Amino acid sequence: MDNVKIDRIEWARLTGERPRKAGCNSRLGEHGLHVRPPIARITTSDGVSGIGFSAMSRDRAETIVGFELADAFDPENGVSEDFQFMEYPLWDLVGRLKQKPVYEMLSNESNDFKVRCYDTSLYIDDLHIDDNKEAAALIASEALEGKARGHNAYKIKVGRGAMHMSLEKGNQRDIDVIKAVREAVGPDATILIDANNGYNLNITKLILAETAEANVYWMEEAFHEDARVYTLLREWLNTEGIKTKIADGEGSASPHLVNWAKDGIVDILQYDIFHPGFTRWLELGPELDAVNVGTAPHHYGGYYGNFVTGHLAAKVEKFEFVEWDHATTPGIDDTAYTIQNGYINVPNLPGFGLSIDEEPYQEAVKENGFIVNI
Ligand SMILES: [Mg+2]
Repeated sequence: MDNVKIDRIEWARLTGERPRKAGCNSRLGEHGLHVRPPIARITTSDGVSGIGFSAMSRDRAETIVGFELADAFDPENGVSEDFQFMEYPLWDLVGRLKQKPVYEMLSNESNDFKVRCYDTSLYIDDLHIDDNKEAAALIASEALEGKARGHNAYKIKVGRGAMHMSLEKGNQRDIDVIKAVREAVGPDATILIDANNGYNLNITKLILAETAEANVYWMEEAFHEDARVYTLLREWLNTEGIKTKIADGEGSASPHLVNWAKDGIVDILQYDIFHPGFTRWLELGPELDAVNVGTAPHHYGGYYGNFVTGHLAAKVEKFEFVEWDHATTPGIDDTAYTIQNGYINVPNLPGFGLSIDEEPYQEAVKENGFIVNI
């Protein structure tokens, strides 16, 4: 790591494709077919490269090219603050220099590193269907597509009555969908639901009471986080004997949320894997462990988060699940990662275990990216 200098920075925005279009959530329209991860490659004067997500501009790359690795990364604290905008290529590079996977650098765990994941693709794809039962059957069939890809946990977008459908019919459809997915995936699978703040306390109670037998593991973003109302929800869950956990923290989360989690109001924290990022999560996850709060970083739409998020589990005891947004992205070879029985088999390869697929990557660099040499 001493005297290692970064001589070259390449960057491109790649375009990947999901197996099918992602529909609406409770507050937005169609999420579509494509993901567009910005992928940088940094190369040392000895020709070793690190790759990974970074939203860096050409100006920034020109300003920093030629930097010493020791100024950007130290083995104790990871990536220094000034370089966190390219934390993923840096972790990957250090892993390759040390010939160790990132998870092993964090914990000394070696072979057979597996992390639970969930299929995040069950969007509100049924708005063109009038009949609730038919709509529920469609989402259940999508869950089975996930099962065929190796999943055993599924997150269902709910909140249809918030704006897309009439309140009553939308609520009933949410209930029908949750039950139909449970029926399809069997009793051992995990079911999560996410309302993107489209419920209120009473609707949340209605949905969780009506689907109690479907055993929903977490309720994500029921409504915009609010310590008082979450406390009421918690009391109600306890009274009803419903074990569903409260999960929150993506998007413009309340700055108080982390304290509410530490106070036991929220069970699982979901800050994003890119903002605040991996380095911040390495501090936060163990802090949450200490107060018995789960870690489940959000990254929907980022694609690259599928692979890196699980490495955190090496350092975070109460790591819950990796959000898996399946896509194929020319330019990135992700084939070392496989999913089986609900777990990601994290490859025992240096860094994050991904590699560049040269031809499509170079094409994207030419089309929308840059190369900066010292
Ligand atoms: Mg969400």
